[in-house]
Amino acid sequence: MATTPTTSTASHPSPETLIEAGHDTTTLVEAAIRHIDRPYEDWSEDRRKALKDWKTWSAVVLEHPLLSAGNLLSEKAMHELLEILDRLFLAGTMGSKCDFAWKKGMEMLGETTPEPNKQGRVGIEMNTSPGVKLKIMITKQKLLEILLGILMHEVAHAYIALYACQGGCGNGQCEYLSQRYIDAIGKTGHARCWQLLAEALERQAKIHLSKGVDLRRADSAAKEYKRSGYLMNDKDVQKLFNGQSPLNDEVMKLRKEEIERQAHLDS
Ligand SMILES: [Zn+2]
Ligand SMILES: [Zn+2]
Repeated sequence: MATTPTTSTASHPSPETLIEAGHDTTTLVEAAIRHIDRPYEDWSEDRRKALKDWKTWSAVVLEHPLLSAGNLLSEKAMHELLEILDRLFLAGTMGSKCDFAWKKGMEMLGETTPEPNKQGRVGIEMNTSPGVKLKIMITKQKLLEILLGILMHEVAHAYIALYACQGGCGNGQCEYLSQRYIDAIGKTGHARCWQLLAEALERQAKIHLSKGVDLRRADSAAKEYKRSGYLMNDKDVQKLFNGQSPLNDEVMKLRKEEIERQAHLDS
C-alpha cells in the first residue's frame, strides 16, 4: 500500500508501512479499502498474478472428485486460498502470518484468534460442517462460495487483529473495550471497521471471484448490536447496506428514539 497517501493519528503511525498492532483502526481500514478498490489498471504485477492464481486454484478445486460437504479441502489448500486472497486484496501483508485449521463441531462458522505464545500471528479456524450449520443443500460451486465467504469474513478479522492498535500505544482511548475500541472493533469484532473492510472485500470478490460471495455482514451487525449496542449511522447504513438497516424494526425504533433524544439535547 506504499503509494497511497495516508494520514496518521497523534499516537499512531500511518499504515503506509504496516506495524503489528500499531495503527489506528479506522485509519488502517480506510487505507486497506483504498487499496482494495484500486482500479485494475493500477494493480501490481503480483496482484494480477493472484487473480490468475485464483482461477487456477478454483478450477482445480471444482474438478476435485472428492470435494463435497462431508469431504473438505486440505488445510494446505485452504491456506493457499488464504494467501491468494491476501495478495489479491491486502497486498500480501498477512497470509504468511495466519495459520489455518479445520475444527469439528464448532459453534460458529469460523473464528479468528491471536495465537497464544506466537506474537504477531493469528489462527483462523473454520467449521468442518458449514452446510449443516447453514441448513442448506450444497453443490460444489456453492460449497466453494460458502468457504470463500467464511474465509474472507475471517481474513477481515485477522487483518484488524494483526495491525490495529488495541491499546498497546498506552493511550487509554484505544484500550480493549474502551469506547473507541467498541466503536471501531466491537465486542464481537463486527463493529464499524470490520463492516467497512468486509463490505469492500465482498464487493470486489463479487466482481473478481464469484458473484454469490457472502461475508454475512448483516448477521454479524445484528450479533454485534446484541452484545455491545453497536449501531450504524445513516451514512454507514447507506454505504454498507444500501440504506436498509440489517437490524430489525424493534432495534430501529429504539434507534429513532435515541436520535430524537439526541436532537432534543442538541437543540
Ligand atoms: Zn492506540
Ligand atoms: Zn466474525
